[in-house]
Formats: sequence, structure tokens, C-alpha cells
Amino acid sequence: MEIKIADELRRISKGEVLSDDWSRKIYSVDASHFILSPELIQKPLDDDDVRNICKFCYAKHISITARGAGTGLLGQSLSSGVVLDFTANMNKIIDMGEDYVTVQPGLVKGILDNELEKKRKFFPADPASGNFCTIGGMVANNSSGPHSLGYGSTIDHVQEISITYADGTSGTIGPTVKRDEKISKMLEIISPSVDLIKRKYPKVSKNSCGYRLDAVLSNKAFHPQKVFVASEGTLGIMTSTRLKIFDMPLYRNLLVVGYQDLLIAMRSVPSILTFSPTALEMLDSSVVSSDRKSFNDSGCLLFVEFSGDNRVDVEAKLYKCKSRVEGNGQVLHTAFDPISIRHIWESRKNALNNIMKFTVGSRRPVGLIEDTVVRPDLLFEYSLYLKQLYSENNLDYVMYGHVGNGNLHTRPMVDIEESSEINLLEGLAKRVFKRVIDYGGTITGEHGDGLARSKYVQQVYGNRIYSLFKQIKHLFDPQLIMNPGKKVIFGSVDNIPR
Ligand SMILES: Cc1cc2nc3c(=O)[nH]c(=O)nc-3n(C[C@H](O)[C@H](O)[C@H](O)COP(=O)(O)OP(=O)(O)OC[C@H]3O[C@@H](n4cnc5c(N)ncnc54)[C@H](O)[C@@H]3O)c2cc1C
Repeated sequence: MEIKIADELRRISKGEVLSDDWSRKIYSVDASHFILSPELIQKPLDDDDVRNICKFCYAKHISITARGAGTGLLGQSLSSGVVLDFTANMNKIIDMGEDYVTVQPGLVKGILDNELEKKRKFFPADPASGNFCTIGGMVANNSSGPHSLGYGSTIDHVQEISITYADGTSGTIGPTVKRDEKISKMLEIISPSVDLIKRKYPKVSKNSCGYRLDAVLSNKAFHPQKVFVASEGTLGIMTSTRLKIFDMPLYRNLLVVGYQDLLIAMRSVPSILTFSPTALEMLDSSVVSSDRKSFNDSGCLLFVEFSGDNRVDVEAKLYKCKSRVEGNGQVLHTAFDPISIRHIWESRKNALNNIMKFTVGSRRPVGLIEDTVVRPDLLFEYSLYLKQLYSENNLDYVMYGHVGNGNLHTRPMVDIEESSEINLLEGLAKRVFKRVIDYGGTITGEHGDGLARSKYVQQVYGNRIYSLFKQIKHLFDPQLIMNPGKKVIFGSVDNIPR
């Protein structure tokens, strides 16, 4: 009698293996609209367990997808093969020093925040999903958040990664660690293309599209670990990572400015940036009020934070900025104490949750063009273009985002069960992405490519860089079993679930 794959895996696995219909249903969804049922779920106990599972899957040619909290917005952790859930067992802080922390991938960001706060430290990438999402998911998506304006995205702070490759071999990857064969080969592949990479990569401050070869070879230094950041688990499974951490600034303050017209707010962004805020965020009126009647109303709020260790300097920035914005906008609030600042950021954090409440049946705010980045000085022109496009197509929409980085989250309301509406959305995406690429921007700043956007990656980078991506993918994953359908597409894009 044929032994089921789940039972074969149970023999070699230290962690729990789930193959019942209920569990498969739970793991068939994430925070996107995709549904893809895995064959089975395994909860690795340790690095050794991950190596054995990968060896097993490699021998059987079964696909492997890592999963954190499943808060990915584009279907990144969904797969019809084996799903490895890191939240159950591999969720610990391994080691912490003055300026670094080493953690397992299933550690929830909010738990890390609490531990770091006790030492007055922080890890700056702060996604709104921080109370749920894991460090593994953040590294694999190159997550960021409001404070990435002042401190950078996840990729800027990943110092080392321990990785298990598709065939079950493993190693620690970092600039000061001895290179293994694959990493040496990667260097050979990308070195001749340094100039091409410089020319072709988006000229923006954050980017989660494709593989970040620009960060691997930057400032004449080799940072091999960064190829795995933003790679969505398509090149290997991360079993731990060492992250740079920062001292909390001694002083912070926050300005909330209301605008009658979102376009005026967008026009004022470059001028606000001259005061070097550490966060500059926007919520449009529909996101603020969660009131369906206020769709397409033109107003918005800007949140501007300044921080540092010199109180006089930090306050001077706020007051100068305040007098610059008054007139075009109305200063609604200034906050200097940590409790008020925390409360205000909580309301910003709830933006996407509020937006998802607009869902009625299959009509919902759909995320395809929801994470573009353009240079901040182009935001006015770009948001005018988006508003006109929505208006021409009679679409309700929401708009918010990390405007200090030029990163706009916008979602039109679309009925995902109406093929005409899905076609309309895909038509819009083609036009919007072309515009963003012409601006030198990226189609995703922090949320990643996943099932929804991987088919557009080639359009962003062009054929020559895309062919480098394919070589890198083949190098690390010759059987193409690591999280298939994400990042680099082999064969027809029609095979990707819609
Ligand atoms: C309400 C809401 C708000 C959000 N706000 C933000 C925001 O402000 N900023 C932002 O950047 N994102 C945001 N996101 C998106 C999402 O939360 C982040 O991308 C998050 O980091 C994903 O983490 P996760 O643990 O849920 O990962 P998952 O969704 O489980 O997985 C994401 C990817 O990581 C890979 N992965 C996970 N673990 C490993 C591993 N061990 N090895 C290799 N690959 C691995 C998976 O295969 C998958 O490709 C938001 C999402 C929601 C639902």
C-alpha cells in the first residue's frame, strides 16, 4: 500500500505535522484575497528539523513554503505543497548585545519590541501588523513602516542570516562569514552587471520588488545575506537572523496637520522633508472616518514626527515645520509626551483594518496597485494621475501611506467575483505600473510581490536583470521547489492563481 506523504514526513519530523482538512483550510488563506490549500503543514522544532524536511521535499520534488503569521497582503505564504509554520516552536530571541539581536524567524515583532524596550532599544522597521507579524515574514518581505523614513527598511539592518537551502544543506551568510559555494557563484553571476544594476534599479528609498541585488553589492561591499531579504522564501528557508538594533531617541514630538485637499498635502511633502522628520505619514478622509459616505472626499491628515537626543534641536524642527505648513494646512495637534504620541500612532496603525471594514460580500478594497513608491517630489503629479484614473473609471478608493518615502497605499473598491471588474483592475495596474516605472519608482515598497505582483517584476527591471534573477533562482533552488509562483515566474503567468 502506498504510504501517504504526511505519514512519511511524520517519521522523519520532530515537529507536529498537520494534514487534516480543517488545518489545510486555515493555512489556505493569508491577508490577501487568494485561497490555496497546502498538502500539509509542518511546525519545525529546530534547524535540524528544517534541514531534514528540505532534504525530504527535495528528494520527492515537493514544494516548500515558509510561513510566519500569514499577514502577507499578496499571497506570499500560500502554497499547494508543504508549508512550514515557524510561529509554534522557532520563535525565540537567541542572543542580544548592545547593538544587535539574533532571533528565530517565528518571533513576533511586538514581542521583540517589548524586550528591546526594556533596554531602551528598538528595531526600526515598524509595520502596522507588528503585534502579529514575525521577523521571518518581515525579512522575507523587506517590511518597513512609518519610521523607515528616519531609519531605513528591514534590509538595511539584516547583518547575518542562517539559511537552509532547498537540498537541505545549510549555512550562515554574512559579509564577514566564509562564503559557501553558492554564495561565491552568486558573486560571479552578479559582479559583471554592477553598472547595469545601478542603472536599472528604482531610484527610491524603499523597494521590495524582485531580488535586491543592488543591496547585495552596494558601496563596493558585498552583503550576500541581503539576497534573501525580500526574496519571499524563494531562495531558502531562514532559521535565524542577526539584526542591528538602535538606542531609542531621547526626545520625540509629533505634528498632525489637516488638509482640505489631498493634492495640496502631497505638494507640501518635499518642503516638510527639508526639516528631516523621522516619520511622515498620510491618511485620506475615508481611512480616518471609516465612513463609506466620505469616499473620494478630498481631505487628508499628515502625521509628522521628529526625534533625536537633543531636545532643543528636535523642538526647533517641529516649530519651523509647523509655521511652514500653516496656511496650506491646519495644525490640529502637537504632541510632546510619549503617551499622546503612542495614541496617535495607534490610530495610524489601524488604517488597513479600518479600510478592510469597507468590504461588503465580494466587493472590497483590492490591493494590487497598493504599494507603489515614487520620488516624493513626484507625489503631487502621481496622486493627481491616480485620482483622475479612478474618476474616469467610476471607482471608489482609499489612499494612505508613507508619503515621506513616496510610498502610497491605494485600493480601489472592486468586486473580485466579477471578471469584468478584475479585468478593469488589471488594466489599471498596467497603466499605473508603467507610469511608476517611467518615474524611476517601484511597484512595491514594502509589501512584496507574492502571487499578485510577481508577473509584473520583469516589467520593472527589464529582461537583462530579470535573467539575472532567473540565474540566482536556479542557483539556490535548481528544482524550483521553494515557494513557487513568487518573485520569478518560469512558464506561463496564466498558471498563477488569480
Ligand atoms: C493590517 C495589516 C497591516 C500591515 N502593515 C504593514 C506595514 O505597515 N508595513 C509593511 O511592511 N507591511 C505591512 N503589512 C504586511 C505584512 O504584515 C508584512 O509583510 C509582514 O512582515 C509579514 O509577516 P508574516 O509573519 O505575517 O509573514 P507571512 O505572511 O507568513 O509570510 C510572508 C513571506 O515571508 C516568507 N517567510 C516567512 N518565514 C520565513 C522563513 N523562515 N524563511 C524564509 N521565508 C519566510 C513567507 O514564505 C512569505 O513569502 C500589513 C499587513 C496587514 C494585514
